[in-house]
Amino acid sequence: MKTKAVRLYGAKDLRLETYELPAITEEEILVKIYTDSVCMSTYKEVKLGTAHKRVPGDVAENPIIIGHEMAGEIVEVGKRWMEDFYPGQRFSIQPDINYLGKGWAPGYSFPNCGGDCTYCILPKEVMEKDCLIPYAGEAFYAASLAEPVCTLISAFKAFYHRSAYAAYEHIMGLKEGGKMAILAGTGAMGLGAIDLALHGDKKPSLLVVTGRTPKKLERAARIFTEEEAKKNGVEIRFVNTTKTEDPVALLKEISGGTGFDDVMVMTPVTEVISMGNQILGYDGCLNFFAGPSDKTLTAPINFYDIHYQFTHICGTSGATVQDMKDALQLAGEGRINPSVMVTHIVGIDNVAETTINLSDIPGGKKLCYTHLNLPLIALEDFKELGKDDSRFADLDEICERHAGLWSAEAEMYLMEHFKE
Ligand SMILES: [Zn+2]
Repeated sequence: MKTKAVRLYGAKDLRLETYELPAITEEEILVKIYTDSVCMSTYKEVKLGTAHKRVPGDVAENPIIIGHEMAGEIVEVGKRWMEDFYPGQRFSIQPDINYLGKGWAPGYSFPNCGGDCTYCILPKEVMEKDCLIPYAGEAFYAASLAEPVCTLISAFKAFYHRSAYAAYEHIMGLKEGGKMAILAGTGAMGLGAIDLALHGDKKPSLLVVTGRTPKKLERAARIFTEEEAKKNGVEIRFVNTTKTEDPVALLKEISGGTGFDDVMVMTPVTEVISMGNQILGYDGCLNFFAGPSDKTLTAPINFYDIHYQFTHICGTSGATVQDMKDALQLAGEGRINPSVMVTHIVGIDNVAETTINLSDIPGGKKLCYTHLNLPLIALEDFKELGKDDSRFADLDEICERHAGLWSAEAEMYLMEHFKE
């Protein structure tokens, strides 16, 4: 079986190549990939090359396929797994497999297993760790996005609070009915976090989202309206922190003077972490979600508050198989809509360039359709492109009917009307 794949040969060395995959062994599974959403973690991986802890030292000779937010269909099942999986079955992957304590993962460590390709081979590690997850939904992209969503679910589970004053038990999760702030929360993952805060099992009563870019704040406020939040019992506020001399004072004021129970920091910037620390209330939990590439990143922390106010800090990276199942369930039930994260689509021929330049490209998630050749296209540009190509006008019309968001209907139209 031939595959067209984006392979990493070293730092910033990505190559789109068509090559013959080996025949699968009894312990492997051959899959057809349909979608892979581009992740900031892959950008960091590509930037670092072999300096990344998950990338093997010999990729120059044995390149790996990048991309770990993949979804597709099973093509051929090795003998060992025939009772568990079957050809034609749709799937998603929980890439944080942690096999034998090694940080190896699809999209980072395996020569023939990653999401930015047309076909790939799942090694036995993926199935042994229960990380190949059958998917019954209609759209592949939603299964791709289950990966970023599950890392958010993991982070939401990691918040903790004391069960009572002078009690030593921790209750895990957001404070029910508490005050929550999501700092630098207008990027793709921020929007996913807002969605989860409004529609997950535990909800705050107040949700404050900060950002610096008016356009991104406006888009977030359009997607998550005050009315919609109110229906879920949440008062939502969007704050541009560049509009005030003293954002900490403003945020504290918005909290009603108490500070916040749960603060999520979505960017690895010292000032933002410090701001998050300063706006914590009694027993407040700061959750550092953003993954830094700077190994020496530090920020000032108020130790007076740690002692007298029981403020504390947590962080998570990756997620568990259960988090992934939760993500697929929440999306399957229509409670959360991961489409809020998507701002662009792209084909296999342009995904390498998109990944290398990811930090400079505005917007949220870039969704790769691995069997299509497409430039990187913003959903908001469909209308303009529709003047020359009626297919984009149709896509624009479909997105308009879904509040400007990507959808299963849009995916089906794309796969039907754009050639492989
Ligand atoms: Zn990811």
